[in-house]
Formats: sequence, structure tokens, C-alpha cells
Amino acid sequence: MEKFSQAEANNEDELTQPESVGRRNFLRGVFAAGVVAAVGGQPIRELFEETLTPEQTEKELTECLEKLKSEYGVEIDFSELKDADKKIEHLSLAEQRDFAESMLGALEVYPKSYVHGSGLTTIKTGKHLRIESDNSKTSKTEAYFSSKYPERVLISKESFEGYLTDKFGWDNDRRMKSTFHHEFYHQNDPHVHDRAFNHGWTMEEATKGADPHFHTQDVFSIRREGFASTYGALGGAAEDRAEVAAALLLDPEAFERIALDEPALVDKIQKIKKEFFDRSHGIMDETYWKLRSGGDMKAIKEYFLLREQLSESSDK
Ligand SMILES: [Zn+2]
Repeated sequence: MEKFSQAEANNEDELTQPESVGRRNFLRGVFAAGVVAAVGGQPIRELFEETLTPEQTEKELTECLEKLKSEYGVEIDFSELKDADKKIEHLSLAEQRDFAESMLGALEVYPKSYVHGSGLTTIKTGKHLRIESDNSKTSKTEAYFSSKYPERVLISKESFEGYLTDKFGWDNDRRMKSTFHHEFYHQNDPHVHDRAFNHGWTMEEATKGADPHFHTQDVFSIRREGFASTYGALGGAAEDRAEVAAALLLDPEAFERIALDEPALVDKIQKIKKEFFDRSHGIMDETYWKLRSGGDMKAIKEYFLLREQLSESSDK
């Protein structure tokens, strides 16, 4: 739509991600059944944890942050955003803990060497991210990457959609992970502002069934053939790649099953996999994707360890 083509025309390096996916099933313990209420915009579980078990919540947050720093060299910045045209609201203790857990879960599917090599050091977050200078984006923006700050991605904990529904605060794990994968893909995409490459990508995929033109079904956010999402279809080639990468990293088995009958998606997945293979110096290979489809995170971590040890010994 217009705002996307406008962004392309201005060659903006602001890459945002409004898509909302998934539902986190984290109604645990005493809140295991039926509780979907929020008080003052904060889910009951988080209020409960903050009021009655603040030490435990704090301990979990600290452990998570230490792990992010020691294993991936990544810090989460919960402080206020200084940029004049962007606003981000503060997160409560339990919300910070939930966010940190989701980011750790997202980073765990990448080899440590990949994350270190990316140059990413900071994930900035808050409750909602608003970019005041661009009204068309204000309400929908959930994440942000600018190549002016290549070491940083911004991920909003809440989605605009969740704010308007009873999902507020309750289903964010998958969405936050997916959003992280999307922005992290941009952060490492060498072709992000390469017009010729992006044009070639769109044209080639169009021949395989991914029609880049606006469709009626886009109004209803119905995913159409050859694209991972409506945003991927409308946002241009860089967004298309980031959406495919996010869907693939979030749940490779489910996404590849969807792609089976869609030649453009099959092709895009192969290209994105090749990209990850190259970026990870061969660690994210077919064995990696097989292990990911099995869903055994322990096996994946062992595989990373083995591959990284092998590459260290061959470096000597
Ligand atoms: Zn994007």
C-alpha cells in the first residue's frame, strides 16, 4: 500500500513489522484455566507475581539477563527511549522477565557465533513503541531497525492488535520471537536497501506465483500464495524476506508444510536457508533444519556446540 511504496521511494531505512502471530499458552499454576482478564492493562498473572513473588520474579529476570549477556553478548535496554520522535513506555518487573525470556528463547535457535558475528548488542524494549513523526505508522509499529544503529533492534512487548482485544499481554511469546527474527534478519541483510537486488527478487518470485500487486484479500489480512504474510506481500522485497525468515525460524516444520504447494514460497525458503547457511558459516545447514523440525532444543544446542568446537579446532 501507499505507505510502503512511499517508504521505498524515500529509501527509508526504518524497517517496521506490524504483523501479529501466535498465541502463547502461559496460563500457569493457579491461573491454569479460564483467566483472560487484565487489570489496568496488566495481566493478572503478572500482577500476582509482582505483588506476591517479587523476589522470585526479580531472580528469574536477573538469570535471564545474565544468560543473554554471557552467551550471546546481548543486553536488553529497558530504559526510556531518547529519540525525540519515538516513545516507548516502561515495562513492569514481570513484563521485563517475560520479555527477556522470549528474547532468550528467540536467540537460542541461532548459533552463538552467528549472534556474536552479527554485531547485535542491544535489544531495546518497552510496552508500546510509537513513532510520532509518521502518523501512518504510529498505531501499528511493533518493532524497528535502523541501519544508523546497526547494533540495536527495538521490539515492543505489546502489539497494537493485542491492545484492542482480550489478548493483551497474554499471547506475546510467539509474536515477540517472530518480531525479533524479523528485525534480526534485517539487521544482517546485505541487500536491505539494494534496489536492483530487491526488484530482481520480486520479479523472479512473481514468475513462481507470488503476485506483488495489491489484492482485495489483503484488506482482510488473508495470506495469499507465495508470501509468508500480508505484510510480506505489501512491504516490498526486504520485508518479504524478513517475514519468510521469521516464519521459518519460529516454526520450520509448520511453515514448510504450508509452503509445499506454493512454488514461490518453496523457492524463498531455499534462498533464505542459503542466506542463513552462509551467515552462520555452514552451521545452519540441513541437519540444523531437521533438528529444528524435531523441536528438540537440547539436540540443537548440542549440535551448535559440536559444530563450533569443530570450527575452533580447524582454525588452529
Ligand atoms: Zn521489517
